[in-house]
Amino acid sequence: MRRKLIAGNWKMNLRRAEGVALATALADRLAAEAPAADVLVCPPATAIGAVADAVEGRGLHVGGQDCHTQDSGAHTGDVAAPMLADLGCGFVVVGQSERRQNHGETDALVAAKAAAAHRAGLVAIVCIGETEAQRLAGEALGVCGGQVTASLPDGATAENTVVAYEPVWAIGTGRTPTVADVAEVHAHVRAVLAGALGAETADAMRILYGGSVKASNAAELLAIDHVDGALVGGASLKVDEFWGIVRAARG
Ligand code: PEP
Repeated sequence: MRRKLIAGNWKMNLRRAEGVALATALADRLAAEAPAADVLVCPPATAIGAVADAVEGRGLHVGGQDCHTQDSGAHTGDVAAPMLADLGCGFVVVGQSERRQNHGETDALVAAKAAAAHRAGLVAIVCIGETEAQRLAGEALGVCGGQVTASLPDGATAENTVVAYEPVWAIGTGRTPTVADVAEVHAHVRAVLAGALGAETADAMRILYGGSVKASNAAELLAIDHVDGALVGGASLKVDEFWGIVRAARG
């Protein structure tokens, strides 16, 4: 049984005090309701330490939004996976489409970042997803399958890796694919994982959906076969909206 994961990607938003207030409110709700899903917040690097300290031991997971491929060195402005672990992170997102598009990240680089996450003891949330042009050209399954194969490093397991399917055209746009389209891609990703890692690992690995998830559409999306949670951007910045998504996760 795969326990669902609801992950909030705060992107380049919230200062330390705002992040601590949001995370503390989420930790309070976790304590009061014991939801059916694991709950993760990924603050900007500047707020991770304050947020992790504020919610330490309260069941709310904290993660990074990106990491470098190397564990230390001359890389101005970058953050290494062991530094995230040192702050209290258990997860890191790699290959989110804004990184792939705006920073030219390739599948090989994403795989190297995921490998760095694993070395540091972090769970890598590896993002994949087709552009609108690729979907219209009937290439969504091929693109996503290829990204899964090329973006997961050697040594990926169901314990150290989560896949997030995020159609690029659905991120931050308010548009979502149909239930049938989400189901088709997630089933395909599961099959590709089985081919690459074996049926047992593939069956246990969580595959999240991301792209304009909000409280009002979460129940429908989270009920789809092979959807094991959500990666949430905009809606993760408001406690009621994000908690509505957490509550929509069943089993
Ligand atoms: C994301 O940041 O990965 C994302 C899915 O954003 P949004 O929920 O705002 O579409």
